[in-house]
Amino acid sequence: MSKSVDVKLAQFKFPSMCVVCMSPSSKYFGIEQVYTYGQKTYRMKVDVPMCEKHYQAASFKSSVEKVVEKHVAVGGGILAGIAAMIVLILRWTGDNSLIIKLFIGAIMGLGVFAMVWWVISAFIAPLFAKRESKEARNAVKITRYSPMDQITRLEFANEQLAEILQKTT
Ligand SMILES: [Zn+2]
Repeated sequence: MSKSVDVKLAQFKFPSMCVVCMSPSSKYFGIEQVYTYGQKTYRMKVDVPMCEKHYQAASFKSSVEKVVEKHVAVGGGILAGIAAMIVLILRWTGDNSLIIKLFIGAIMGLGVFAMVWWVISAFIAPLFAKRESKEARNAVKITRYSPMDQITRLEFANEQLAEILQKTT
């Protein structure tokens, strides 16, 4: 079972213990989450303490994960971008010059490329991570941020650790 703790990040400090196994920590692993409220975007970053072993596990990328991130994401993005550009130009009904069609097509192609690349590298590639990597990376998750009171909700996979933190904050 996981457990959530609400903290003010500006005042919050992790104890120097690994968030996965609670042994003394030696490194920090950065986790990040972006929240958008109306016009404002909040990029929440938290450095969570980890022992050497779990830091390595969190940072380690399996070879499949690397291939998906680098090649599949870029290749898929390029193909989708080109396809979007071709479809747009072929179905163009307005009477505009070819330059304008190509220009708008290129912008749309780039947008589609960026979207497909981001989805594959951010969401698909991590699915191929090793079990230990997933466990370490997901030990702490940012699940909510409220700009009104600047409270960030951290979800801990390790319930025991969450309870210790709750007592100290
Ligand atoms: Zn550890």
